[in-house]
Amino acid sequence: MISFEQAREVVIAQSKSRRAAQQSISLPVQDALGYVLAQEILTDREYPPFDRSTRDGYAARASEARSGASLRCVGEIKAGDSVVEPLPAASCVQIMTGAAVPAGADAVVMIEFTRREGEVVTFERPTQSGQNIVPRGSEARAGQVALSAGLRLGFAELAVAAQVGAATVCCYRKPSVAILSTGDEVVPITEKPGPFHIRNSNGVSLAAQVQLAGGTPVSLGNALDRVEDLAEKIERGLQHDILALSGGVSMGKYDLVESVLKGLGTEFFFDAVAIRPGKPAVFGRCRETLVFGLPGNPVSTMVTFQLFVTAAIDVLSGREARALPFLEARLSKDTKEKSGLTHFLPARLEWVGMEPKVAALEWQGSGDISALARANCFLVVPAERPEIAAGDRVSVLPRGDVL
Ligand code: AMP
Ligand code: MG
Repeated sequence: MISFEQAREVVIAQSKSRRAAQQSISLPVQDALGYVLAQEILTDREYPPFDRSTRDGYAARASEARSGASLRCVGEIKAGDSVVEPLPAASCVQIMTGAAVPAGADAVVMIEFTRREGEVVTFERPTQSGQNIVPRGSEARAGQVALSAGLRLGFAELAVAAQVGAATVCCYRKPSVAILSTGDEVVPITEKPGPFHIRNSNGVSLAAQVQLAGGTPVSLGNALDRVEDLAEKIERGLQHDILALSGGVSMGKYDLVESVLKGLGTEFFFDAVAIRPGKPAVFGRCRETLVFGLPGNPVSTMVTFQLFVTAAIDVLSGREARALPFLEARLSKDTKEKSGLTHFLPARLEWVGMEPKVAALEWQGSGDISALARANCFLVVPAERPEIAAGDRVSVLPRGDVL
């Protein structure tokens, strides 16, 4: 059985070979959060576009504004003012944060380090040339790459695009991810379940995970554990870049997903991974669609999505697959699991001062959704180190959306 690291490598490699079909779209920058840039964005001018004061104070020549020296203040400059006149010799000018420093001045002295009587300003500390000034062009030259193609647009990247005047940006279309749950016991969340039915929570959590990962979720509802219904709904899923199924991939008599996929011509790349929860996870390709068969127990579904499907969404979005953001923490409670599988246990990471501490939560196994809702991370118990003592350092995988 392959490890989760190997399984991810397989997912990434297969997703890369599918990437060719990418289309780009034009979007107002305000609507582009989470999209991946399909173009380079260049600076339209130098940044900053003028020598910018970073403090409220007085612009002066450092050689004249020595400690104890006094200079005559000849005016004021606020942010947005046009500055054309150079600073006359033996004088200073009051200046505000964000304003342009006049030619001749090479330092801004913070107002806190001056005294003023009438027009005369006395400097109380030594002044260095260049202090509190960001020189024109020091952040970026004109025509330089401000944002490269393949970058995912977060709030800071959007601010850069806005700063350089890219009101419209060219991005890759988000991959469309069909979500199909399976199971005779599964009913829509808008219906009252019979005594032995359960609501389709996976349909909701998967759609949320798709969105967070940067895909467009398309809900196909639920298929019964029957070949015809599965085949018909899986066919619909094959219209999309990715099909994420939940349930029906274990060893039970009615776990039919794999055989139906096979009948439709799916090529499988793995059909089990050495993890718990999530061992029966299946990955393959059917026609042009990447297909994931995730085990139906909700925690298994969520873990396997985070480990594998996010990587495929990253690559089909036009960016590199993000590495799993493992952290190190100190274990606060002894932990013992079965060897041979890497465990991802719902856990809580808390910071005691600067030190991260983690403990697995009490839970009833991979059907226990509320345990994962109380968790903010997974405690990773490696296959080859099933017993870990309190106080040892352990690896932790933050839950995709809360840390
Ligand atoms: P399966 O992987 O089909 O054997 O399902 C494993 C467990 O997960 C069973 O207890 C199912 O009832 C439960 N389950 C399957 N699909 C869903 C779903 N869509 N939402 C919530 N629980 C589910
Ligand atoms: Mg089932």
